[in-house]
Amino acid sequence: MADRSDRSTPRLGDMPSAEFREAAHRVAERVADYLERVESYPVLPAVQPGDVRAALPGEPPRGAEPFERILSDYASLVEPNITHWQHPGFLAYFPSVASGPGILGEWLSAGLNSNVMLWRNAPASTELEQVVVDWLRQMLGLPAGLDGMLTDTASVSSLLAFVAARHAVPGLDAREEGLAGRPTIGRLRAYASTEAHSSIDKGAIVTGVGCSGLRKIPVDAEFRMRPDELGRAIAEDRAAGWTPFLVVATLGTTSSTAIDPAGAIATICERERLWLHVDAAYAGAAAIVPEMRPLFAGWEHAQSIVFNPHKWMFTPFDASLLLFREAAAFRDAFSLVPEYLRTSVDADVRNYSEYGVQLGRRFRALKLWFEIRYFGVDGIAARIREHCRMAGVLAERIDADPDWERLAPTPFATLCFRHRPAGAAIAEAELDLRNAAILDAVNRTGRFFLSHTRLAGRYALRVSIGNPRATMAHVDGCWEALRDAAKAARP
Ligand code: PLP
Repeated sequence: MADRSDRSTPRLGDMPSAEFREAAHRVAERVADYLERVESYPVLPAVQPGDVRAALPGEPPRGAEPFERILSDYASLVEPNITHWQHPGFLAYFPSVASGPGILGEWLSAGLNSNVMLWRNAPASTELEQVVVDWLRQMLGLPAGLDGMLTDTASVSSLLAFVAARHAVPGLDAREEGLAGRPTIGRLRAYASTEAHSSIDKGAIVTGVGCSGLRKIPVDAEFRMRPDELGRAIAEDRAAGWTPFLVVATLGTTSSTAIDPAGAIATICERERLWLHVDAAYAGAAAIVPEMRPLFAGWEHAQSIVFNPHKWMFTPFDASLLLFREAAAFRDAFSLVPEYLRTSVDADVRNYSEYGVQLGRRFRALKLWFEIRYFGVDGIAARIREHCRMAGVLAERIDADPDWERLAPTPFATLCFRHRPAGAAIAEAELDLRNAAILDAVNRTGRFFLSHTRLAGRYALRVSIGNPRATMAHVDGCWEALRDAAKAARP
């Protein structure tokens, strides 16, 4: 490392170039080692709340510290004490795995530090985002004409859709007038299934629709929204003076990856003149696989769609794609351009900050561009297809074993199931406790991290396969660990 021994006089300026170069090589080595050796760590670290904080100084250093010492503390305090999302045994929630080319693109975007607010201050970054958004649209098999942008998360993408949908309500003009103290306007009503993600409730909270303004529509036995119930709810609400404005269809629900019937819901939205927003945050990735596209039939009619490349498309966190049918609907809802941000080319370019809440925006398109080019669309599809195949094999094993049962269909690569010993009359509450004990035992092995959910009141174990570094050996190992834990859980 460069000599920084004389630290008594504070030096001005940035890290010297030679020192940066050397440190950057060391960081690259560190990350490559981490990815190679990630399986030597337990997926869940053996830390208790407060452990890491207690090991860190409470006050910032007054003087400069050598980079070497910072990196060494990273290696001993941070790296071993995180939950390893990159570990192929991380099968909890939904996958969120950073691929090699995605990581490298992320590094380069950090180097450029391009703030993608306006074309003028981010020309290549803005245009690359336009190109990548359209590439993603094509990859999903969606029609030309859908435009869009990248945001940080599905929660924010859906929130922007809420605001645009609210803005499109005739005569409401919430942007100018707000919602409070206006007795002449009806209360806004949005609809989503009882299985919709909590980010939809948050959208209702932030936009003044309120939690009670979001009506949860019952689901069928496979956890899909019932269109007949949706139609009934809208008619009932209109008669009671509500103003229905938005329906959220979830294609790939968070608990069981159920697929709401987008076609039937789109027909209702068209008839009732309601905004249809599709939340395909997780499962959208499967639409890259041509033979899986029929599962999404009807989503092309939506006014807005969210899909997260940072979930099942191997993109470093964060990257969410928000597609919209009419860009003007978002621009009208959000655009506010103060004098200091006006430029001479505004009429000819895309200024992304006019389409959402944020002014400053990260340059997320670069990592996606690297990743899509490195793997190719077919390469990405092949990996997703393989995850579904492995999930299918695990589903067959569960179905073939009389002591286990699946609690929901497995249309993608996420399984919900439980242990239920054959021939034994065990109360539901006891089954819940046993399966929670199985989850705990599997997670304590350090080799796997699974999560759980509740489906129709039942405690369900949940395995989601989506790491490009995961192989059938990981799936076999997980099944073995589950069966071992179930044996131990027997009375
Ligand atoms: N929508 C669905 C269906 C999800 O499963 C999730 C998270 O798992 C979200 C939205 C929220 O995603 P984000 O963390 O990107 O806000």
